[in-house]
Amino acid sequence: MVSNMKKISIWMDNKFKSKISRLKKDTEVDVLIIGGGITGLSIAYNLINKNMKVALVEKNKIGGGITSRTTGKITFLQQNIYSKIEEKYSFEKAELYYQSQKDAIKKIVNIIDKEKIDCNLIKNKSYLFSNNEDNLEMIQKEKNILEKFNEKVTYTNENFVIGEMKYQISVDNTYVFHPLKYLYNLKDICLKNNIDIYENTTVYNIERKNELYYCNTGKYKVIAKKVVLAIHYPYFLKPYFFPFKSTLEKSYVVACKVDKIEKTNGITPNNPSISFRYHENEYPYLIYLSLSHVMQDEINAKEMFYKLKNEVKLLGLDPSYVWSNHDIMTKDSLPIIGEMQDNLYIATGYNTWGMTNGTLAGMIISDLIMNKTNKYTKIFDPKRQEILQIGYSFVCNVKGFVKGKINRNKKFYNDKVVYLRENNKNIAIYKEGSKEYKVHSNCPHLGCGLIFNMEEKTWDCPCHGSRFNLKGDVILGPSNYSIKYDE
Ligand SMILES: Cc1cc2nc3c(=O)[nH]c(=O)nc-3n(C[C@H](O)[C@H](O)[C@H](O)COP(=O)(O)OP(=O)(O)OC[C@H]3O[C@@H](n4cnc5c(N)ncnc54)[C@H](O)[C@@H]3O)c2cc1C
Repeated sequence: MVSNMKKISIWMDNKFKSKISRLKKDTEVDVLIIGGGITGLSIAYNLINKNMKVALVEKNKIGGGITSRTTGKITFLQQNIYSKIEEKYSFEKAELYYQSQKDAIKKIVNIIDKEKIDCNLIKNKSYLFSNNEDNLEMIQKEKNILEKFNEKVTYTNENFVIGEMKYQISVDNTYVFHPLKYLYNLKDICLKNNIDIYENTTVYNIERKNELYYCNTGKYKVIAKKVVLAIHYPYFLKPYFFPFKSTLEKSYVVACKVDKIEKTNGITPNNPSISFRYHENEYPYLIYLSLSHVMQDEINAKEMFYKLKNEVKLLGLDPSYVWSNHDIMTKDSLPIIGEMQDNLYIATGYNTWGMTNGTLAGMIISDLIMNKTNKYTKIFDPKRQEILQIGYSFVCNVKGFVKGKINRNKKFYNDKVVYLRENNKNIAIYKEGSKEYKVHSNCPHLGCGLIFNMEEKTWDCPCHGSRFNLKGDVILGPSNYSIKYDE
């Protein structure tokens, strides 16, 4: 039987493809934003009509990065994040983070309203739920802290829509949307308002000379007074030691047709988490995420997809779309947003809450660029010591490196993938019928061995999350280079 299941995110299956030309000459700007995900476009949007020449460059297509594979919930109920921040820092910091998320939600809804953006925005209730009584205390703790922020929280223990999830709190005034429709609209609005946008334009390195940044895109350069790294994994910063200030969390997602949508979304309090939401396009869908884990702990993507499909089968559902995605996690659960060095800004480490935090980065970084104060700059300071986690991150990096070697083992691939050495280079071949796809099998970023993802047909780096398609083109960073055999 031929399966109709698509191995891309439900958002990527759309007809609104972005087609913008690459950079074709040297350019000078006041602000260069590198990266066209929710972070880069939110910053660009906030710089419209601010008397500055602004350009945004994107190495692939607008919205083609992590944002195209999100679940697109716009919520401030983010597992037990406020209890964690209170425990790590203080009640006041937890409250400030809560306010930042509420402000970001307001901002997205205002933009959608003001610009009349059609992006399937639905207001709904967010749930934090579990079927394990051991988690009840954690859920109640989060309820207590939210109530201290004056948030209205409801507790119930009725059986819930996803399986038999019993213990739940819920909050109102949260949303879901179609993240790519939102981004494409932001892009069009920016273009109409004199923000220059270039696709298929990679910045390979950045040099500082005479108080200006020289951003090299290969043939042409952009000279900028201020530069924003909205690139998800800020690899340009040396010696910032980003691999020691972050870990990567990977999850698996399916979208399944259902009879009708519910105005609810939810998540379990701890990992491996289950998260869900609904989306209505041509049909109603349930989007269901599960099996979240530290990226380097994964044995094999095929097994994870197999487990996920079995999980949804037990709910009586049949996936129409399957995909995987990863995000950057920080030790203190707070994002990293702000000025790194003179006129160089970064925004990353969203702990899987990038719809709100990418929007917030838009607000904070545009304020910094315009020399305005912003009450959130201090808690998200990229230079704070608390995000350093040398020991744990080192172990994760080593595990990723070892995994890249172990997965060269034939048993994972039924002889469809062959690893070999040729002319002193590590090569891999994927065989599909009579076709053979040959690529370099080490990641150009830091040299880790690539693992074949049999389900999505991508080459994945187990260390820092770069991904490449069958032909070897890089589809997700931090690698800026392809693994094509002939290059
Ligand atoms: C499974 C999963 C589900 C999630 N669900 C939610 C959710 O429901 N709600 C929520 O709030 N968050 C969610 N998140 C988190 C959210 O998706 C991310 O935090 C967010 O999309 C990151 O956006 P970004 O703009 O920083 O990165 P990206 O979208 O990756 O954008 C960065 C862009 O920079 C480009 N780039 C990189 N290097 C260069 C270069 N050198 N030159 C030019 N361009 C470059 C890339 O091509 C990319 O397009 C989820 C995350 C995961 C993993």
